[in-house]
Amino acid sequence: MPSISYYLGRSARQNVEEALEAAEKNSDHNIFLHLTKKRALERADLIDSGQQGGKLAGVPFAVKDNYLVFDGPTTAASKILENFESPLQATVVERLEAEGAICIGKTNLDSFAHGSSTENSAYGVTKNAIDSTRVAGGSSGGSAVSVALGIVPFALGTDTGGSIRQPASFNGVYGVKPTYGMASRFGVVAMASSTDVMGCFASTASDAELITSIMAGHDDKDATTLPDYYKLGSASQAPLKIGIIEDFMTDATDAGVLTQVNSYIEKLRQNGHSVESVSLPLAKYSLAVYYIVVPAEVASNLARYDGIRYGKRASNVSTLDELYGRSRDEGFVTESKRRILIGNYVLSSGYYDAYYQKAQQVRTLLINEFDDLFHSYDVLVSPVTPTTAFKIGENTDDPIKMYLSDVMTVGVSLAGLPAVSVPAGTSNGLPVGVQLIAQKRNEATLFALAQSVEASQ
Ligand code: GLN
Repeated sequence: MPSISYYLGRSARQNVEEALEAAEKNSDHNIFLHLTKKRALERADLIDSGQQGGKLAGVPFAVKDNYLVFDGPTTAASKILENFESPLQATVVERLEAEGAICIGKTNLDSFAHGSSTENSAYGVTKNAIDSTRVAGGSSGGSAVSVALGIVPFALGTDTGGSIRQPASFNGVYGVKPTYGMASRFGVVAMASSTDVMGCFASTASDAELITSIMAGHDDKDATTLPDYYKLGSASQAPLKIGIIEDFMTDATDAGVLTQVNSYIEKLRQNGHSVESVSLPLAKYSLAVYYIVVPAEVASNLARYDGIRYGKRASNVSTLDELYGRSRDEGFVTESKRRILIGNYVLSSGYYDAYYQKAQQVRTLLINEFDDLFHSYDVLVSPVTPTTAFKIGENTDDPIKMYLSDVMTVGVSLAGLPAVSVPAGTSNGLPVGVQLIAQKRNEATLFALAQSVEASQ
């Protein structure tokens, strides 16, 4: 996996042509839904002629197909947006372009980012980079594999409950889920507005930090963005107090995963940090809370796809109700329909208090539990997932089993905290990831820690 520095100072056209070639060579992995070839080559020529420069001049990247990007459709891997072409680009894509980066294509995902394996895409599954009989993870599976196979040095994903961290760990790359509000959500198809964050995949910790710093910052078009506070490399080098979340280090996690996570923890100790076990008793409810709060927001956000304003419209219908119903039935995958049903149920007048309100109350308690830990610890550590990448088809008939692969990531999302998935060796040849979690706005601490371990290896 070449890092960003490999691409700097070379011909942008050569970079783009090589990346496009690599994308086509790996087409059996089903990574890209669309290559933005025409615009990528035009932008490369602009850079080669000296008309544009920047920190990422001529560096190719891939973008999850729920970001609005010029030169092709934005489908969110759904049929309802099959032919949707955007009149604008996402703010973070604009920021990366302003630094000279070049988008070469749109990557596959679970439709509307609903899933943990990219099997819920309306356009077929993306295969794992290391073992093509296994899933890429999800929902940002295509972006993770595009970096893991060295097609591009970085790629964009979205993370609502683990969709960057989990596929990063399944494919052995870095995955960044920044603080909620750190990067603009403008121009990205909404899943759950209170936990959606924009982040990246990269092959080194310093590349991940560079891209994060460019994506970060206030945007007038997204009122939840934080002020421009992010300073690259601003973390202190002093020994840290690190807490290991013991609730996730039990025999519910695969032994091979625990071995790798423990050896990463040992490196942290050897690097002079103090390490203790901590407990997060409400963690066991985080999945239950997530699968009430998130479907409620999903149902609200997906209500706009009605077959009228844009996107797919069913033909041969005789009433307006039939038009709505048929367009949505044909346009959404099963998992999205399941979430619309659950979401409307938990928000309905008879059940709101029992489900939605109760879940929000428990969410607040979980946030408080994290806050308490951050009074005593700088960084919390856990595995990213209980297992390594599972076989394609293994969990598709059992949504609860599928949801369990997010048990260690969803709590962090509900609390809006930054977390990085760091590659930490393999178990039976399959990559394992360690999750490093910090208090809000402290991603610099996470990058510095990950870099120090990377450097000591
Ligand atoms: N896998 C989780 C879900 O299905 C997370 C998805 C995401 O982060 N977009 O909701």
